[in-house]
Amino acid sequence: MRSAGFCYGTGLTALDQTALGATLDLARVTPVVAAVPINLSGLTREALAHALVEAGAVPADKAKMRATQVFRWIHHRGAVDFAQMTDVAKDTRAALADHFSLSRPEIVERQVSRDGTRKWLIRTAPGIEVEAVYIPDVGRSGALCVSSQVGCTLNCTFCHTGTQALVRNLTAAEIVAQVQVCKDDLEEWPSDKEDRRLSNIVFMGMGEPLYNLDGVADAIDIISDNEGIAISRRRITVSTSGVVPELIALGERTQAMLAISLHATNDELRDVLVPINKKYDIAALMEGIRTYPGISNARRVTFEYVMLKGVNDTPAEALALVKLLKGIPAKINLIPFNPWPGTDYECSDWGTIEAFAAILNRAGYSSPIRTPRGRDILAACGQLKSDSEKVRASARRRTPTLAPG
Ligand code: SAH
Ligand code: SF4
Repeated sequence: MRSAGFCYGTGLTALDQTALGATLDLARVTPVVAAVPINLSGLTREALAHALVEAGAVPADKAKMRATQVFRWIHHRGAVDFAQMTDVAKDTRAALADHFSLSRPEIVERQVSRDGTRKWLIRTAPGIEVEAVYIPDVGRSGALCVSSQVGCTLNCTFCHTGTQALVRNLTAAEIVAQVQVCKDDLEEWPSDKEDRRLSNIVFMGMGEPLYNLDGVADAIDIISDNEGIAISRRRITVSTSGVVPELIALGERTQAMLAISLHATNDELRDVLVPINKKYDIAALMEGIRTYPGISNARRVTFEYVMLKGVNDTPAEALALVKLLKGIPAKINLIPFNPWPGTDYECSDWGTIEAFAAILNRAGYSSPIRTPRGRDILAACGQLKSDSEKVRASARRRTPTLAPG
């Protein structure tokens, strides 16, 4: 799971030292960069109890109770400073402040679309920038689309994020921080405030969540905890391009709702649009979905289907989709293609999309056409991309990380 402890930088990497002809004895190298405290926002309540004891901030027999108290301050009240924790003893607060941090990441840019969609570009560590998007009137009241990675290793040809090489996985703290930034902006503390505008979380931002299952699962444990932000697991959806071997683990560890980026009904086309299909083809994907823990008519799998003009939008393909999904409790989300600079794809005409949807409806599927949101600020599905670039790991080790946790 997550690694507890502090990040130390030696200033010199092993390679650098070899190049200098130095003897490699890293255990004896004195850290030249100060330890960066763990950000408590990224710890599940259980991990928090361990961390508090390990740091000597609370005795073991009080750990569970204290952890719940601190957890509530962070995720129910939105505290950013230990001094706010008025019901925690002063010396305990001081011990917490000595060892841990609660700081929010830097917001590099905040944009609000004409339709009310909000997008934040968040810097969680030097060179690590991610986008999160809040979309009003989606789900029960509004959904936050979070990123799980900076960039992506996959190269779906219609996706903007796919053009950005993977920089790294986000930590649980960096995923939770996106929710905190949104709640700060919407002024939704305490978390049980009435008429909450943030009701749903979708892992549909940058990256492939199933290649970061540890970070995603911990983040879901934290976000869904009833002592904190308390967004039910049934209102948390994880979208995957089809990393079949991780599907069961996702269901068992998170009980999250599943969304599958299908986009094509035959392997020949899906190999092009979603290249991971060459590894796990449509038959393997369907088999994996059928065994996803907890699927039922009340907990349907969402199939996402991006509408690409002249590529995958014929009535024959709608019929093939119906055939393919037979027997799976499913709903279908038709996503009008969102263009981005440099793409050759175009969005299907509105009439074509409606005709496609009508075939699905006649077959009994709920198939809403997802209204494009936030297009004017490049906040719509698949338009997310940050300028973070992969730096050589050695260069990153030389930079003290502020990454929480
Ligand atoms: N990597 C995951 C989750 C992030 S992408 C996945 O692929 O499922 C979220 C959704 O947006 C996916 O269904 C993806 O296929 C879709 N998408 C990507 N680029 C898009 C674009 N330009 N227009 C519309 N949808 C897009
Ligand atoms: Fe990655 Fe998803 Fe984009 Fe494919 S659609 S490149 S898996 S983020």
